[in-house]
Amino acid sequence: MMPGKVLVVGAGINGLATAWGLVRRGFAVEVFEQGPVPNPVSSSHDEHRVTRHGYGTMHRYARLMPEAFAAYDAMWADLGRSHFAPKPLIVFERGATDWIDASTADMDAMGIGWREVDLDRVAQLYPMLNTDGMTRCTEMDGAGVLFPVRILTDLAVHLARRGVVFHANTPVDAVDPEAGTVTVGATVHGGDHVVVAAGAWVARLVPGLAGTVVPSRQAVMFVAPPVELAAAWADAPVFFDLGEASGTYTLPPEPGTRLKIGDHVFTRRGDPDESRAGTDADVERLIAAASGTFRDFHRYVPLERKACFYTVTDDERFIAEPIGARGSVLSACSGHGFKLAALMGDKVAAGIAAGEPYRH
Ligand SMILES: Cc1cc2nc3c(=O)[nH]c(=O)nc-3n(C[C@H](O)[C@H](O)[C@H](O)COP(=O)(O)OP(=O)(O)OC[C@H]3O[C@@H](n4cnc5c(N)ncnc54)[C@H](O)[C@@H]3O)c2cc1C
Repeated sequence: MMPGKVLVVGAGINGLATAWGLVRRGFAVEVFEQGPVPNPVSSSHDEHRVTRHGYGTMHRYARLMPEAFAAYDAMWADLGRSHFAPKPLIVFERGATDWIDASTADMDAMGIGWREVDLDRVAQLYPMLNTDGMTRCTEMDGAGVLFPVRILTDLAVHLARRGVVFHANTPVDAVDPEAGTVTVGATVHGGDHVVVAAGAWVARLVPGLAGTVVPSRQAVMFVAPPVELAAAWADAPVFFDLGEASGTYTLPPEPGTRLKIGDHVFTRRGDPDESRAGTDADVERLIAAASGTFRDFHRYVPLERKACFYTVTDDERFIAEPIGARGSVLSACSGHGFKLAALMGDKVAAGIAAGEPYRH
């Protein structure tokens, strides 16, 4: 398509990355966001996100990671600064899983380094960890932390400077993907194409996805470690505990961020309009799991517990596809969407420019 006008619904990372890809290709873009830009209730709005090349048995996504890193590098070049901190990823098992072997096979093929960590040295290297039942520990390169709030904020500023029109606090009521229009109240806004990147609300605008794409209420906790572990945490890596009862991912405190613990057990419940305040029920499993991951976890001071929504599909597959002659949808289905968003948004934009909407 010759560059024309594209309407984007949603100012999370997928909507903004798509707008970024479109602006780079000369399109005029209007972004519609039901709340402020960025919106604190979006999935994308957080202090940090993990990025990595190791992807367990999801080999298809592992193979996308070199391109995903390159897409963020291109975004940093446009923004004039990077919002990525490289960090080792320490992955440990408490009983056999296939995650490490599957990941390292892909990493070997991609030339990304990794090494076994001698179990006798784990307690000395990482004194915060509970080593009970640990059967294997590996250190993986090609990983680190993305800083979402900074990325969203810089993208909003950058895109507005490039002429993108933001309609904040403007809930879209309906999308017509055949006509390339969105309806807000009594007003119909027209474009040459419309992209729906509405996160956990996506099925309200694309009813065909209801049932396939399910909102999932997830919990995270921000904590302060006991003072005698402050130095160990100051230079800590990212931790993945693959234990069945202790399954957690942990991001260390970085400048401007707090120590965060979450899990990947999908709840597949909840309504994205609910409060984001984490309840006792939200964090019950997480506290039990973190008590298995870390020594003396009861001594960590809670700073905040938060609920967050993303959508999930059964196979954790992204959905990027045409939904009509002038419409596309982009939905990161599961907890792994941020690291791929610059790439996915750019591919959606490239597909619109080529007149062949991207299909993932
Ligand atoms: C707790 C948690 C931890 C995660 N950890 C990681 C991680 O470590 N690594 C990783 O890669 N990924 C991670 N993810 C996943 C990642 O954050 C999400 O996949 C990604 O942010 C989804 O972005 P999105 O733009 O699709 O959705 P969102 O960020 O939710 O954006 C959608 C936007 O659309 C707006 N909207 C919805 N409906 C309408 C409407 N009708 N009109 C106008 N606007 C509308 C919403 O307000 C929202 O701002 C995590 C997610 C969570 C919740």
